[in-house]
Amino acid sequence: MLELGLTGGIGSGKSTVSQRLVDKGAKLVDADQIVRDLQAPGAPVFLAMVERWGDKIIGDDGNLNRAAVAEIVFSDTDELDALNGIVHPSVVTEIARVMKELSDTDHVVINDIPLLVNKEGKSERPEYDRFKGIIVVDVPTEVAVARLVEFRGFDKEDAEARIASQASRDQRKAIADFVVDNAGSLDALDPQIDACWEWIQTLR
Ligand code: ADP
Repeated sequence: MLELGLTGGIGSGKSTVSQRLVDKGAKLVDADQIVRDLQAPGAPVFLAMVERWGDKIIGDDGNLNRAAVAEIVFSDTDELDALNGIVHPSVVTEIARVMKELSDTDHVVINDIPLLVNKEGKSERPEYDRFKGIIVVDVPTEVAVARLVEFRGFDKEDAEARIASQASRDQRKAIADFVVDNAGSLDALDPQIDACWEWIQTLR
């Protein structure tokens, strides 16, 4: 496999760009999606969480009530540690399983990692050095805020605060091997995705 990292701030368009690369033939490893799958009703992490915190973390629709979980762990670091202790090993194991399946193929594998770069401008985990290249999706802060408000139901202050808590655009661009500029329309992404896919092929 040919493994790449993809990162960008919240609302920059990571999911949008990853999906376009999947349309080109890439495989996507999306840790957030893996967590959601492991937390689906009846799945192992869901069951372990219910065993610890009881039915109060199950919503009326049978799904995990994320707000209830957030409330429990928000102000209690022991509970937060317990949550991480339940979720993290399963996610690591699942990602390792998916990776093992892909490792002997010649697929392009995109890892969507929102926090690949931290506020110190460093890659948070040294094992990310395994990536053959890093794609950064870049967008002006005002554009990201506007999209989070319009399409994802954020309020403006919350969107701005989330972005401010993450690495800066310059910090991300400093580690980029390929930058996708997502300031324009969705159509404006097409030629960039084509160029990105061509660049990926040169890494083989
Ligand atoms: P991320 O995964 O980085 O948080 P998303 O891919 O979810 O960002 O993009 C944020 C929102 O903006 C989504 O609703 C997405 O559909 C929308 N979006 C992404 N790129 C564009 C674009 N170029 N033009 C208009 N809307 C966009």
